[in-house]
Amino acid sequence: MLNLVLFGPPGAGKGTQSQKLIDQYRLVHISTGDLFRAHIGNRTELGQRVSKLIADGELVPDSITIAMLEEEIDKNPQAPGFIFDGFPRTVAQAEALDRFLESKGAGITGVVALDVTEEELTARIAKRKAISNRADDDSEKLKKRIEEYFNKTIHVLPYYEQQGKLTKVNGIGDIEAIFDEIKGVVDGLLI
Ligand code: ADP
Repeated sequence: MLNLVLFGPPGAGKGTQSQKLIDQYRLVHISTGDLFRAHIGNRTELGQRVSKLIADGELVPDSITIAMLEEEIDKNPQAPGFIFDGFPRTVAQAEALDRFLESKGAGITGVVALDVTEEELTARIAKRKAISNRADDDSEKLKKRIEEYFNKTIHVLPYYEQQGKLTKVNGIGDIEAIFDEIKGVVDGLLI
């Protein structure tokens, strides 16, 4: 199995690069942000529980997020591997993912972290706001999301670094050039 984590702050380009990785490696994409938005759109009980937190740019509690993620993995028993996008966002989530994959005789193959400056992130999301209808793309909420990233999510990096699984890729520049660099990393993991 090839299990990848695509890591980066809000607006780093995880969604764009995930799509290209799926096309290239036929992996099953799991984006916790997309899953939450689908729950909210479908007005499920879970959606109703998390919609305010998400609109406010706060992280959803680990217990809810981890349960949803494990369910999604279990829906895809034939997957050749997964690309995790927007998960893990806390060290507890990273530990839970390791335990869960281990119980299936699998594990995380590698983590690609998109490196983007805070200035560039704010500019990108301002642009996206003009065309998106995401409730969490306005500037106050974005500030909160970036804050959550620097308070909680960034600690996931040393977790994977200690395991020797982390590779940083420059996330600024041409989308294709960034993808080429990611592909180089992933091809290296396949050997
Ligand atoms: P971004 O553009 O910030 O990468 P996502 O689509 O990944 O956005 O996530 C949107 C929102 O969904 C987050 O701001 C957070 O509220 C919630 N969320 C997504 N993934 C997680 C997670 N792994 N843990 C907690 N909350 C999450």
